[in-house]
Amino acid sequence: MEGFEIRLTSSKKGKGLFATQKFDQGDVILEEDPLVSCQFAWNAAYRYLACDYCMKPLETPEQNVRRLSCKPDIVLPHSDRFELNLESITSCDQCGALYCSEGCRQKAYVIYHRILCHNPSDAQHPIVVLMETWKQMHYPPETTSIMLLVRILAYIQQSSDPSAARAKVKQFCHRTENEDAELVHKLLGEQFTHQMNTLRELTSHVVSGDEVQEFLTPEGFCTLMALVGTNGQGIGTSPLAMWVNSVLEVTMSDDERQQLDLFIDKLYQYVEEESGSFLNTEGSGLFQLQSSCNHSCAPNAESTFPYGNHRVQLKALKPIMPGEEICISYLDECTLQRSRHSRQKELAQNYLFVCWCERCSSQASEPDCTSEEEMSDEDIDADD
Ligand SMILES: [Zn+2]
Ligand SMILES: [Zn+2]
Ligand SMILES: [Zn+2]
Repeated sequence: MEGFEIRLTSSKKGKGLFATQKFDQGDVILEEDPLVSCQFAWNAAYRYLACDYCMKPLETPEQNVRRLSCKPDIVLPHSDRFELNLESITSCDQCGALYCSEGCRQKAYVIYHRILCHNPSDAQHPIVVLMETWKQMHYPPETTSIMLLVRILAYIQQSSDPSAARAKVKQFCHRTENEDAELVHKLLGEQFTHQMNTLRELTSHVVSGDEVQEFLTPEGFCTLMALVGTNGQGIGTSPLAMWVNSVLEVTMSDDERQQLDLFIDKLYQYVEEESGSFLNTEGSGLFQLQSSCNHSCAPNAESTFPYGNHRVQLKALKPIMPGEEICISYLDECTLQRSRHSRQKELAQNYLFVCWCERCSSQASEPDCTSEEEMSDEDIDADD
């Protein structure tokens, strides 16, 4: 590791990522591939075509927007800006899972696909049954996927050194049983006890064996569910979003720019009408280094996916000095703009901690909103 280290923070936050050198705004702090990643269930059901291993899109921005909007005549200008090599697409001989390259097909097979390979049109297959059950419990917008959990189990089961694989997965677990249960409750809603048992049982039909047994007990399964719920980092690889980003760099007159902006707004509107609101999050993944980044409401870094696949890049948003903690925001852009009270409520509900970042501390004297929404430190146990 160069330029950063993972160590204990002085506060209750536990571990954190710290700079060991100076970073300027825009500098890349680190890049890494996830331990496992997975497309969301509904995202796949809407036939968003992505590599089953690295989530790279397997369709051009034009094909993507035509399909999502159900308008086969849309023509995207400047589409030459966007390079996508669709020639190396390959598939699993047995199940037809699509990959962007032979490399991805092989990696998937070696890491988890060998025991998960199945015929997707076999409605009785345990994976198909599990996915359908999950989809009924968890409607979009999706934040996590049962398939990510299944891939973690398969990764352990297929590993040549299962105890090392288990230890790797357990590095992500740092909560008590009660906290896990609370998080999973939030994730699945009121039906959670019943649903957890159903999901656990169906999952054990997909992956079982001594190596994963500890994650298939009620407590173990709950821990794993909380793990994917809180550590799963959203991955955005939409070809439409990448095209939108790439045309930002095209030189044009103000007039042309204005027209293009209107055209883009319209595209998103068409997509929304046909396929629901557009969130540039196609799946999620587990990242070892990136997941040790704590939250701040005034983050000095951000996670991006510049390669259009699941490889994450952590970039400095402002100058970072040696010794300074590197923080990202766990909140979406919109929530991040809101008051301290709203932000803290969201963080307490989804991540079970009280934020004491610089911005929150400096706003501590701000009045809280309504009294029934008020929360105290006694209600929420701070993360330790
Ligand atoms: Zn790939
Ligand atoms: Zn297969
Ligand atoms: Zn904060």
